[in-house]
Amino acid sequence: MSEHLQIACAACLTANRVPAERMAEDPKCGNCGAALLDGAPAELGEAQFETFVARTELPVLADFWAPWCGPCRAMAPHFERAALELKDSVRLVKVNTEQAPQLAARYNIRAIPTLILFRNGVEQKRMSGALDSGALARWAA
Ligand SMILES: [Zn+2]
Repeated sequence: MSEHLQIACAACLTANRVPAERMAEDPKCGNCGAALLDGAPAELGEAQFETFVARTELPVLADFWAPWCGPCRAMAPHFERAALELKDSVRLVKVNTEQAPQLAARYNIRAIPTLILFRNGVEQKRMSGALDSGALARWAA
């Protein structure tokens, strides 16, 4: 019996079961063919976020940000680098709080950027403030 991890497709939200030993082999969505672990942050909105998190067994690191927030924009390239470095072990996603105010309210986002780490769909920890890519990787570990 090989171990499987469920990973949601950021494009169509289909829950895919990926054998643990194939995580590094660029698994594709069985429904739409999109790369499940493309090494880039997935932009998720109100309609996708909770389903995506609930269907993903890999840890999900979410960045709640806004376009007018300077520290958010400064962190963006670090977040992208961390997404690539953590490609097979943590799924990085971004939520634009301007476009998803109900999500921001539901998660009680009071300052941005706020980072929330989910494991198996459950919030494990959160922090407010920007981190560089190294600190992001350590925080998500
Ligand atoms: Zn898909």
